[in-house]
Amino acid sequence: MTSPSLLDAARSRPVLADGAMGTQLQEAGLAAGACGELWNVERPDRVAAIHRAYLEAGAELILTNTFGGSRLALARHGLAERAAELNRAGAEVAVGAVGAVGAVGAVEVRGPAPQAWVLGDIGPFGGLLAPLGETEPDEAQAAFEEQAAALLAGGAHGILVETMTALDELRCAVRGARRAGAKLVVASVAFDATRVGFRTMMGETPDQAVAAMLEEGADVVGANCGSRLDMAAYADLARRFRALVPDGIVWIKANAGTPRLEIANARVVYDGTPANLAAGVPALVDAGASIVGGCCGTTPAHIRAFARALGR
Ligand SMILES: [Zn+2]
Repeated sequence: MTSPSLLDAARSRPVLADGAMGTQLQEAGLAAGACGELWNVERPDRVAAIHRAYLEAGAELILTNTFGGSRLALARHGLAERAAELNRAGAEVAVGAVGAVGAVGAVEVRGPAPQAWVLGDIGPFGGLLAPLGETEPDEAQAAFEEQAAALLAGGAHGILVETMTALDELRCAVRGARRAGAKLVVASVAFDATRVGFRTMMGETPDQAVAAMLEEGADVVGANCGSRLDMAAYADLARRFRALVPDGIVWIKANAGTPRLEIANARVVYDGTPANLAAGVPALVDAGASIVGGCCGTTPAHIRAFARALGR
Protein backbone atom coordinates (compact mmCIF):
# COMPACT_ATOMS: atom_id res chain seq x y z
CA MET A 1 0.00 0.00 0.00
CA THR A 2 2.83 2.38 0.82
CA SER A 3 4.89 1.65 -2.25
CA PRO A 4 7.09 3.55 -2.71
CA SER A 5 7.19 3.86 1.04
CA LEU A 6 6.93 7.24 2.66
CA LEU A 7 10.18 6.59 4.51
CA ASP A 8 12.08 5.76 1.31
CA ALA A 9 10.69 8.86 -0.37
CA ALA A 10 11.59 11.08 2.59
CA ARG A 11 15.13 9.73 2.56
CA SER A 12 15.63 10.72 -1.06
CA ARG A 13 13.94 14.16 -1.17
CA PRO A 14 11.79 16.49 0.92
CA VAL A 15 8.19 15.28 1.13
CA LEU A 16 5.53 17.99 1.21
CA ALA A 17 2.68 17.46 3.66
CA ASP A 18 -0.60 19.35 3.85
CA GLY A 19 -1.57 22.36 5.97
CA ALA A 20 -4.11 22.94 8.71
CA MET A 21 -7.44 21.17 8.90
CA GLY A 22 -9.09 22.74 11.97
CA THR A 23 -8.78 26.35 10.86
CA GLN A 24 -9.91 25.36 7.34
CA LEU A 25 -13.01 23.66 8.75
CA GLN A 26 -13.88 26.88 10.52
CA GLU A 27 -13.45 28.78 7.24
CA ALA A 28 -15.84 26.25 5.70
CA GLY A 29 -18.49 26.99 8.30
CA LEU A 30 -17.78 24.76 11.29
CA ALA A 31 -19.01 26.63 14.36
CA ALA A 32 -16.45 27.45 17.03
CA GLY A 33 -16.46 24.70 19.64
CA ALA A 34 -18.36 22.26 17.39
CA CYS A 35 -17.02 18.77 16.76
CA GLY A 36 -15.06 18.80 13.48
CA GLU A 37 -14.82 15.00 13.37
CA LEU A 38 -18.60 14.79 13.04
CA TRP A 39 -18.23 16.31 9.58
CA ASN A 40 -16.51 13.11 8.41
CA VAL A 41 -20.02 11.66 8.46
CA GLU A 42 -22.32 14.69 8.18
CA ARG A 43 -20.37 16.91 5.74
CA PRO A 44 -17.81 14.63 4.08
CA ASP A 45 -18.01 16.82 0.95
CA ARG A 46 -16.56 19.79 2.82
CA VAL A 47 -13.80 17.73 4.43
CA ALA A 48 -12.92 16.18 1.07
CA ALA A 49 -12.80 19.63 -0.54
CA ILE A 50 -10.13 20.68 1.96
CA HIS A 51 -8.11 17.52 1.27
CA ARG A 52 -8.40 18.10 -2.48
CA ALA A 53 -7.30 21.73 -2.16
CA TYR A 54 -4.12 20.59 -0.41
CA LEU A 55 -3.45 17.85 -2.92
CA GLU A 56 -3.93 20.27 -5.79
CA ALA A 57 -1.56 22.69 -4.06
CA GLY A 58 1.13 20.02 -4.17
CA ALA A 59 0.79 18.10 -0.91
CA GLU A 60 2.00 14.52 -1.21
CA LEU A 61 0.78 13.54 2.23
CA ILE A 62 -2.51 14.42 3.89
CA LEU A 63 -3.85 13.92 7.40
CA THR A 64 -7.27 12.63 8.27
CA ASN A 65 -9.75 14.98 9.96
CA THR A 66 -9.54 13.10 13.24
CA PHE A 67 -7.30 15.22 15.50
CA GLY A 68 -9.85 15.15 18.33
CA GLY A 69 -11.15 11.71 17.44
CA SER A 70 -10.17 9.63 20.47
CA ARG A 71 -13.14 8.58 22.56
CA LEU A 72 -11.77 10.67 25.44
CA ALA A 73 -11.74 13.82 23.29
CA LEU A 74 -15.10 13.01 21.65
CA ALA A 75 -16.67 12.56 25.09
CA ARG A 76 -16.71 16.36 25.43
CA HIS A 77 -19.26 16.38 22.60
CA GLY A 78 -21.15 13.35 23.91
CA LEU A 79 -19.79 11.33 20.97
CA ALA A 80 -17.43 8.86 22.69
CA GLU A 81 -19.39 5.86 21.45
CA ARG A 82 -18.97 7.02 17.84
CA ALA A 83 -15.15 7.07 17.95
CA ALA A 84 -14.64 4.06 15.68
CA GLU A 85 -17.25 5.25 13.19
CA LEU A 86 -15.94 8.84 12.95
CA ASN A 87 -12.29 7.80 12.60
CA ARG A 88 -12.97 5.16 10.00
CA ALA A 89 -15.07 7.67 8.05
CA GLY A 90 -12.28 10.25 8.33
CA ALA A 91 -9.79 7.86 6.79
CA GLU A 92 -12.20 6.89 4.04
CA VAL A 93 -12.84 10.55 3.15
CA ALA A 94 -9.08 11.24 2.91
CA VAL A 95 -8.34 8.12 0.88
CA GLY A 96 -11.27 8.98 -1.38
CA ALA A 97 -9.94 12.51 -1.90
CA VAL A 98 -6.55 11.15 -2.97
CA GLY A 99 -8.25 8.86 -5.46
CA ALA A 100 -10.46 11.65 -6.76
CA VAL A 101 -7.60 14.08 -7.33
CA GLY A 102 -5.53 11.45 -9.11
CA ALA A 103 -4.64 12.64 -12.55
CA VAL A 104 -5.65 16.28 -12.21
CA GLY A 105 -3.72 17.14 -9.06
CA ALA A 106 -0.21 18.52 -8.93
CA VAL A 107 0.89 15.31 -7.21
CA GLU A 108 0.30 13.20 -10.28
CA VAL A 109 3.19 14.56 -12.30
CA ARG A 110 5.81 13.48 -9.81
CA GLY A 111 5.82 9.82 -10.53
CA PRO A 112 4.39 6.47 -9.69
CA ALA A 113 1.58 5.56 -7.30
CA PRO A 114 0.60 6.23 -4.64
CA GLN A 115 -0.29 9.78 -5.58
CA ALA A 116 -0.28 10.72 -1.94
CA TRP A 117 0.01 9.15 1.46
CA VAL A 118 -2.73 9.33 4.07
CA LEU A 119 -1.80 9.38 7.74
CA GLY A 120 -4.45 8.87 10.40
CA ASP A 121 -4.26 11.86 12.71
CA ILE A 122 -4.29 11.43 16.50
CA GLY A 123 -4.15 14.50 18.74
CA PRO A 124 -4.14 14.85 22.53
CA PHE A 125 -7.17 13.67 24.46
CA GLY A 126 -7.49 17.04 26.13
CA GLY A 127 -6.57 16.36 29.74
CA LEU A 128 -3.69 15.29 31.94
CA LEU A 129 -2.74 11.75 32.76
CA ALA A 130 -2.64 10.47 36.34
CA PRO A 131 -1.19 11.30 38.77
CA LEU A 132 -1.57 14.94 37.61
CA GLY A 133 -4.97 14.28 36.07
CA GLU A 134 -7.69 11.70 36.49
CA THR A 135 -7.18 9.64 33.34
CA GLU A 136 -5.15 6.48 33.83
CA PRO A 137 -2.47 5.84 31.19
CA ASP A 138 -4.05 2.45 30.40
CA GLU A 139 -7.35 4.12 29.59
CA ALA A 140 -5.68 6.69 27.33
CA GLN A 141 -3.66 4.03 25.56
CA ALA A 142 -6.77 1.94 24.92
CA ALA A 143 -8.58 4.99 23.53
CA PHE A 144 -5.69 5.75 21.17
CA GLU A 145 -5.49 2.10 20.12
CA GLU A 146 -9.19 2.10 19.28
CA GLN A 147 -8.75 5.31 17.26
CA ALA A 148 -5.70 4.02 15.39
CA ALA A 149 -7.40 0.72 14.58
CA ALA A 150 -10.38 2.55 13.05
CA LEU A 151 -8.10 4.84 11.03
CA LEU A 152 -6.18 1.87 9.64
CA ALA A 153 -9.43 0.04 8.90
CA GLY A 154 -10.51 3.09 6.88
CA GLY A 155 -7.39 2.85 4.74
CA ALA A 156 -4.81 5.15 6.38
CA HIS A 157 -1.23 4.18 5.45
CA GLY A 158 0.09 4.98 8.90
CA ILE A 159 -0.58 6.97 12.06
CA LEU A 160 0.50 10.45 13.10
CA VAL A 161 0.58 11.24 16.83
CA GLU A 162 0.76 15.02 16.92
CA THR A 163 0.69 18.23 18.96
CA MET A 164 1.60 16.28 22.07
CA THR A 165 2.53 18.52 25.01
CA ALA A 166 3.28 15.77 27.51
CA LEU A 167 5.58 12.84 26.83
CA ASP A 168 3.64 10.38 28.98
CA GLU A 169 0.64 10.93 26.73
CA LEU A 170 2.80 10.72 23.60
CA ARG A 171 4.05 7.33 24.78
CA CYS A 172 0.48 6.08 25.29
CA ALA A 173 -0.53 7.20 21.82
CA VAL A 174 2.48 5.74 20.00
CA ARG A 175 2.06 2.49 21.93
CA GLY A 176 -1.65 2.42 21.11
CA ALA A 177 -0.91 2.95 17.40
CA ARG A 178 1.63 0.15 17.46
CA ARG A 179 -0.76 -2.19 19.21
CA ALA A 180 -3.39 -1.38 16.59
CA GLY A 181 -0.97 -2.71 13.99
CA ALA A 182 0.29 0.53 12.43
CA LYS A 183 3.31 -0.18 10.23
CA LEU A 184 4.29 3.49 10.17
CA VAL A 185 4.07 5.82 13.15
CA VAL A 186 5.06 9.49 13.17
CA ALA A 187 5.38 11.21 16.57
CA SER A 188 5.28 15.00 16.78
CA VAL A 189 5.49 17.32 19.78
CA ALA A 190 4.36 20.92 20.30
CA PHE A 191 7.19 22.95 21.80
CA ASP A 192 7.25 26.41 23.26
CA ALA A 193 10.29 28.62 22.73
CA THR A 194 11.24 29.56 26.29
CA ARG A 195 14.15 31.51 27.75
CA VAL A 196 15.93 28.24 28.48
CA GLY A 197 15.22 26.66 25.10
CA PHE A 198 12.48 24.58 23.52
CA ARG A 199 10.20 22.95 26.08
CA THR A 200 6.91 21.08 26.09
CA MET A 201 4.11 22.34 28.32
CA MET A 202 5.41 19.87 30.90
CA GLY A 203 8.93 21.28 30.69
CA GLU A 204 10.41 18.44 28.64
CA THR A 205 13.27 19.04 26.19
CA PRO A 206 13.61 18.03 22.52
CA ASP A 207 16.23 15.47 23.59
CA GLN A 208 13.81 13.89 26.07
CA ALA A 209 11.03 13.96 23.48
CA VAL A 210 13.09 12.19 20.82
CA ALA A 211 14.28 9.62 23.35
CA ALA A 212 10.65 8.86 24.30
CA MET A 213 9.59 8.63 20.64
CA LEU A 214 12.39 6.24 19.75
CA GLU A 215 11.82 4.14 22.86
CA GLU A 216 8.19 3.62 21.84
CA GLY A 217 9.19 2.74 18.31
CA ALA A 218 8.20 5.83 16.32
CA ASP A 219 9.51 5.72 12.73
CA VAL A 220 9.55 9.49 12.27
CA VAL A 221 10.24 12.15 14.90
CA GLY A 222 8.97 15.67 14.67
CA ALA A 223 7.52 18.91 15.93
CA ASN A 224 4.40 20.91 15.08
CA CYS A 225 2.12 23.67 16.29
CA GLY A 226 4.50 25.32 18.73
CA SER A 227 4.18 28.53 20.67
CA ARG A 228 6.40 31.47 19.80
CA LEU A 229 8.08 29.48 17.04
CA ASP A 230 8.85 31.13 13.73
CA MET A 231 10.38 29.32 10.77
CA ALA A 232 13.92 30.01 12.00
CA ALA A 233 13.05 28.43 15.35
CA TYR A 234 11.58 25.42 13.54
CA ALA A 235 14.88 25.13 11.65
CA ASP A 236 16.74 25.14 14.97
CA LEU A 237 14.44 22.39 16.22
CA ALA A 238 14.95 20.37 13.04
CA ARG A 239 18.71 20.70 13.42
CA ARG A 240 18.54 19.36 16.98
CA PHE A 241 16.27 16.49 15.94
CA ARG A 242 18.55 15.68 13.01
CA ALA A 243 21.57 15.56 15.37
CA LEU A 244 19.67 13.11 17.58
CA VAL A 245 18.59 10.86 14.68
CA PRO A 246 21.29 11.27 12.02
CA ASP A 247 19.81 8.51 9.85
CA GLY A 248 16.17 9.14 10.74
CA ILE A 249 13.32 11.10 9.26
CA VAL A 250 12.44 14.48 10.79
CA TRP A 251 8.93 15.87 10.44
CA ILE A 252 8.11 19.57 10.81
CA LYS A 253 4.64 21.07 10.46
CA ALA A 254 4.93 24.76 11.20
CA ASN A 255 1.99 26.82 12.36
CA ALA A 256 1.46 30.24 10.79
CA GLY A 257 2.70 32.13 13.82
CA THR A 258 1.01 32.39 17.19
CA PRO A 259 -2.75 32.88 17.02
CA ARG A 260 -3.97 36.33 17.95
CA LEU A 261 -7.51 37.28 18.89
CA GLU A 262 -8.86 40.06 16.68
CA ILE A 263 -11.25 41.70 19.12
CA ALA A 264 -13.22 43.73 16.56
CA ASN A 265 -14.19 40.65 14.55
CA ALA A 266 -14.11 38.22 17.48
CA ARG A 267 -11.96 35.84 15.49
CA VAL A 268 -8.56 34.23 15.82
CA VAL A 269 -6.06 35.29 13.16
CA TYR A 270 -2.60 34.11 12.14
CA ASP A 271 0.00 36.52 10.84
CA GLY A 272 2.26 34.08 9.00
CA THR A 273 1.61 34.68 5.28
CA PRO A 274 2.35 32.06 2.62
CA ALA A 275 5.35 34.10 1.45
CA ASN A 276 6.72 34.56 4.97
CA LEU A 277 6.53 30.91 5.86
CA ALA A 278 7.68 29.63 2.48
CA ALA A 279 10.79 31.81 2.68
CA GLY A 280 11.86 29.67 5.63
CA VAL A 281 11.32 26.32 3.91
CA PRO A 282 14.74 25.91 2.22
CA ALA A 283 16.54 26.57 5.51
CA LEU A 284 14.20 24.12 7.25
CA VAL A 285 15.10 21.40 4.76
CA ASP A 286 18.81 22.27 5.01
CA ALA A 287 18.52 21.92 8.78
CA GLY A 288 17.35 18.34 8.36
CA ALA A 289 13.58 18.33 8.00
CA SER A 290 12.58 15.57 5.56
CA ILE A 291 8.80 16.00 5.70
CA VAL A 292 7.50 19.56 5.84
CA GLY A 293 4.03 21.03 5.96
CA GLY A 294 1.87 23.53 7.77
CA CYS A 295 -0.08 23.47 11.00
CA CYS A 296 -2.72 25.83 12.44
CA GLY A 297 -3.39 28.90 10.34
CA THR A 298 -1.83 27.52 7.17
CA THR A 299 -3.93 27.15 4.03
CA PRO A 300 -3.67 25.63 0.56
CA ALA A 301 -1.99 28.92 -0.48
CA HIS A 302 0.76 28.26 2.08
CA ILE A 303 1.29 24.73 0.77
CA ARG A 304 1.42 26.00 -2.82
CA ALA A 305 4.09 28.50 -1.73
CA PHE A 306 5.97 25.70 0.06
CA ALA A 307 5.87 23.64 -3.15
CA ARG A 308 7.36 26.53 -5.08
CA ALA A 309 10.04 27.01 -2.43
CA LEU A 310 10.94 23.36 -2.95
CA GLY A 311 11.31 24.03 -6.68
CA ARG A 312 8.12 22.29 -7.73
ZN1 LIG B 1 -1.68 23.22 14.75
